[in-house]
Amino acid sequence: MLRFWFAIPLWQRVIAALFLGIVTGYFWGPEAASIKWIGDFFIKAIKMLVVPLIFFSLVAGVAAIGDIRKLGSVGGRALFLFVITGQIAVWLGLFLGTMIKPGEGLDTSAIPRGETPPPNETTAIDMILSIVPDSPVQVMADVRVLPLIVFALLIGIGILMADEDGKPLAKIFDSGAIVMQKVTLIVMELTPFGVFALMAWVAGTLGLDALLALAKLVGLNYLGCLLIIIVMYSAMIKFIAKLPVVDFFRGIIDAIAVSYSTASSNATLPVTLRCTQRNLGVSTSVSSFVVSLGATINMNGTAMYLGLATLFGAQIFGVDLSWGDYFLISILATLAAIGAAGIPGAGLIMMALVFGAVDVPLETIAFVAGVDRIMDMMRTTTNVSGDAAVATTVAALTGEIDREEMISADDI
Ligand code: ASP
Repeated sequence: MLRFWFAIPLWQRVIAALFLGIVTGYFWGPEAASIKWIGDFFIKAIKMLVVPLIFFSLVAGVAAIGDIRKLGSVGGRALFLFVITGQIAVWLGLFLGTMIKPGEGLDTSAIPRGETPPPNETTAIDMILSIVPDSPVQVMADVRVLPLIVFALLIGIGILMADEDGKPLAKIFDSGAIVMQKVTLIVMELTPFGVFALMAWVAGTLGLDALLALAKLVGLNYLGCLLIIIVMYSAMIKFIAKLPVVDFFRGIIDAIAVSYSTASSNATLPVTLRCTQRNLGVSTSVSSFVVSLGATINMNGTAMYLGLATLFGAQIFGVDLSWGDYFLISILATLAAIGAAGIPGAGLIMMALVFGAVDVPLETIAFVAGVDRIMDMMRTTTNVSGDAAVATTVAALTGEIDREEMISADDI
């Protein structure tokens, strides 16, 4: 029995769990919430890995680059791709929202209101201050990813600057990163159970009614995300990285399934790292560096959604937006996507930042909150696929990819 179970590749078990979960939730209804704890158990186990994984992989990743000038070329390319794809994503959201007008003529009384999250009073200055850790230990204990990344990058750069004297420490981080990947393997075996329970819960509790009232917005969110994944990422892989698109998506199927069911880029991070390294042949240094960084700051699905949702709010409340407002939204949505944590519902909280600036009523948040989860799942998949696409492209551009491994990874 056990042998039979392990003989099936993990990704096939995960996909089967995803569909079984939906069917179970659909027939079981809200009662399916009673097995959500299994999903929570899985998310907790995988979250436990986030801090040590980011810390070890990012330091080891920077140290493995070996030369401070090379760090600039990998980091520069990654940041460039993060910003460009983020901007394209927001404008896509604005375009879809303007053309299809999801909020026009909507009877808002038909929509079940979700809970409004507490207003976000973060200013731009607070955001800048919050990326500097006042205590690295505190930051780790609170799982605050952005300052943790800053600290890890600095340690990595310190190791590079110390040259010979830094080598013993680099070795420790290297070994730590490898050990963490093994621990990840153990936790990954929980994936089919977690995915099954989470999908049953979503399908059982959300039901179809809430979805129908907001169907246009939900549909546009899916369309925008799919366009980003299928058109933008495929183009990046085909024309910039010059690699086979199908093999790329085949290689990240585990990350797609886990991101879709957990709605958390951070929780998916261990899986994304494993997919890029093992299935796509991206070097450990590039994938550790780009994917760990991307899980926090590269969120194209969230950026697209913030643009779209702002127009939705403006339409249901009859707020006129000028071209100037569109530009403001594009900048704020990019910043908000960078600042959003890779956790479920982070994009929803970030809406306040964009809405406030263009006078879209914050009540919009309560309208969309009820169906946020189902949209969050898709934007997280977009975010995570984007991290893998950028890591693969940067690796291809800097000669840090094993093409043979990517194409022949048939035992994924
Ligand atoms: N849940 C998303 C993520 O983890 C962020 C969001 O809410 O948009 O990538």
